[in-house]
Amino acid sequence: MSFNSLGLSDALLKAISKKGYTTPSPIQQKAIPPVLEGKDVLASAQTGTGKTAGFTLPILQLLSQGKHLSHRPVRALILTPTRELAAQILANIKEYSEFLDLRSTVIFGGVNQKPQVAQLRQGVDILVATPGRLIDLQNQGLISLAKVEILVLDEADRMLDMGFLRDIERILKVLPTKRQNLLFSATFSKDIKKLAMGILHNPVHVEATPENTTVDAIIQKVYPVAKEKKTELIIKLITEGNWKQILVFTRTKQGANKLTESMISAGIKAAAIHGNKGQGARTKALAGFKDGSLTALVATDIAARGLDIPLLPHVVNFELPNIPEDYVHRIGRTGRAGASGEAISLFSPDETVFLRDIEKLVGLKLPIENIKGFEPDPNASKEPIKQGQGRQQRDSTPRKPKTDTSNRSSNNSFGPRRPSQNNDRRSNR
Ligand code: AMP
Repeated sequence: MSFNSLGLSDALLKAISKKGYTTPSPIQQKAIPPVLEGKDVLASAQTGTGKTAGFTLPILQLLSQGKHLSHRPVRALILTPTRELAAQILANIKEYSEFLDLRSTVIFGGVNQKPQVAQLRQGVDILVATPGRLIDLQNQGLISLAKVEILVLDEADRMLDMGFLRDIERILKVLPTKRQNLLFSATFSKDIKKLAMGILHNPVHVEATPENTTVDAIIQKVYPVAKEKKTELIIKLITEGNWKQILVFTRTKQGANKLTESMISAGIKAAAIHGNKGQGARTKALAGFKDGSLTALVATDIAARGLDIPLLPHVVNFELPNIPEDYVHRIGRTGRAGASGEAISLFSPDETVFLRDIEKLVGLKLPIENIKGFEPDPNASKEPIKQGQGRQQRDSTPRKPKTDTSNRSSNNSFGPRRPSQNNDRRSNR
């Protein structure tokens, strides 16, 4: 199948060919036609499947065919959980819309709002936003969403994980009720299904990879290792394997910093990326990782969410995630777009429960390989380690869920956020 047969305009085909894409990815083949028809879409797709083009290309086409109003109100709103993802989506939109008369911009927190407001004042057709900053600007009367025709919730599962449900509900209230809705998520918990049911009307379901399963092209391995020897083992793997680009996941920000320091001491060019790092440091680390000046990027789950790092050969779980869905997200960073990759998990006895939960979710027994000299003590405790010191330290700063449930429109009839096991497990990230 080619992009031509999907019904995209010449201006878009030209931009696509400039990007070097020749064949639409499965999610693009499935999502583009229904979006072009104006239908609501519920898509199961993770980063790396080409999902961004799957929704941005048809949106650009619909907007360019629609009525142009001279003051350019926001006609398409794309909500994403993280600043990095928001920035990447905008970068894609800019490239795809090069030959169209459409304006786009991005707003997210953690940076001065002035330049964002100045952009909005000039009029934008497409707005990419993280929920918190959008609500801030909306509350200040600096943005109008009354003309939104298309709403996209990207990485909806992660937005809920990060506590953005109430923000999403507040945003829904100020949108016109008649609009097209697209929801993308890598995993489908009960909460996501509920959110989707409240927002989407007769959605077309599209799927890039079966939900909650891992991609076949990824070679997955588990190395049992004594907890105190994990740092030594990962340094050995990188140096002896002569690995050039490796994404490493830790469970906590502190863990990411500590590991990064040890790697640097061992002569590995490494940087950490997590919520305590300023936007400048995060952008710099990501750029260094992409251009090859950094060998290892050490990330927490939330910080890594949505990072567009193509064709990653190695992903290492320095610690297993305590939320099994995160395992699927993490290893989705390798073996992208058909290329094969290797996902290695360093597994210490106290993570036995986490490994069991992951295997249950993906429906696979992960192959175990012992590495001589690193085996854990067979009598070591299998009890999970305590998470943090009971302090809630998130990787992002979503608003506190409010308990006031009054004045909700029929579009967002959700109760107050229940404290879930997932929330309790997500400290220190
Ligand atoms: P995404 O899943 O949207 O984050 O996209 C993952 C990566 O695949 C990005 O680097 C895109 O530029 C790239 N990509 C998207 N669509 C295609 C395509 N049809 N052919 C080749 N690469 C693509």
